[in-house]
Amino acid sequence: MAIVLFGASKVYPRSVGGLTHWGWGALGFGISGILIGARDLAPAWLSIFVANMLFACSYIAWWRGMRLLQGKVLWPIHRWYVALTAVAAILAYFTFVQPDIAPRLVLMSGISSLFYASMAVLVGRQDHRGRGEYFFITLMVLGFLATLVRVVATVVNPAGTEALLTPSTPQIAYLIAYNLLGLMDGIGFFLLATTKLQSELQQMADHDSLTGAMNRRSLMNKLAIEVAIAQRKSRTIGLIVMDLDHFKQINDTVGHDGGDQVLRHFSALIAKSKRPQDLFARMGGEEFVLVLPDTDMHGAHLVARRLHVALNSPPSDDVARYTCSFGVGTWKGHPVSEEDSTFPLECIEAWFKRVDDAVYRAKAAGRNRIELVLDVNSPDQ
Ligand code: GH3
Ligand code: MG
Ligand code: MG
Repeated sequence: MAIVLFGASKVYPRSVGGLTHWGWGALGFGISGILIGARDLAPAWLSIFVANMLFACSYIAWWRGMRLLQGKVLWPIHRWYVALTAVAAILAYFTFVQPDIAPRLVLMSGISSLFYASMAVLVGRQDHRGRGEYFFITLMVLGFLATLVRVVATVVNPAGTEALLTPSTPQIAYLIAYNLLGLMDGIGFFLLATTKLQSELQQMADHDSLTGAMNRRSLMNKLAIEVAIAQRKSRTIGLIVMDLDHFKQINDTVGHDGGDQVLRHFSALIAKSKRPQDLFARMGGEEFVLVLPDTDMHGAHLVARRLHVALNSPPSDDVARYTCSFGVGTWKGHPVSEEDSTFPLECIEAWFKRVDDAVYRAKAAGRNRIELVLDVNSPDQ
């Protein structure tokens, strides 16, 4: 498992963190297991003290790995040294001063329980929970229960602990299950890392890297859903097409980087003022669209006016001054028959074309203004 996790950490992008930590953790658990298994061959300091300390360190590695994967800021490592020193002191006492397996077992299984419970909570609190997350949480709950049983059994019957070292059938079954679970933990984390990678790639595939707005393909996919909803519920969708004015000139005066900055400034402004359900996309170059679900002409015009005013307020010093021409149009959905429920692509294209024409009118009329689609004969108006 450690080899798999180390290998994955080399291939996965840095933004998917924690794989190396889980690799070290898996290695630590493996070595710790071998040392504990060598109880009859190795001295107590190695097969008990070092083995159990390695066990605790591995949990810390896994804990930090999970926080890295979640993109959280890690606690400074010295906080963990404090905890480790306390564990080392208790372990040393019950290994060398007053050798007793029962308190050692309570301590180590207690640490395991705590780890599993906190992992289940950490992943359970995530905003996005898919199959990978639920699989991982299930593993953590199982781990928590298995280790809790150990703690309780040892506290209730400390004398029975010695039996743990005899190869009885229940004991062997427990060890097999516990080791299998440990292996599954690594697979579970690997799955979480893959899920994160997948969502990062999806984000990159759906969004423009310069402005963070959706790209044309992604907009069309989402729009198809909006159109289907509007059709079923006879709702109107608003569309605002925006084209920055004299952008070639802006590039010529402030350079391409300055032009890029304008594009980012513009996108940030729209992203900030749009509703969560509105779709904002960069269609190419300096042309953007804002799709407003469940919005009529009056509402869409109001949104365009608000954006227009916001753009005309002086931008910050480090962005060149710029203006934008707006075209606004709407499309009204009508319920369609079952067999004809697919919305023809040409209708979307014709709708976009009409709003584009409005933008051209705005350009022709002097730019930096809003033009509405006023085609009263259009069945979609
Ligand atoms: P108009 O007011 O008529 O819209 O004039 P315009 O200059 O904005 O229109 P035109 O479409 O002729 O020029 C668009 C320019 O946008 C041309 C291109 O160099 C520039 N452009 C396209 N994509 C980018 C980009 O990603 N970054 C920068 N800086 N410029 C871009
Ligand atoms: Mg332009
Ligand atoms: Mg253009």
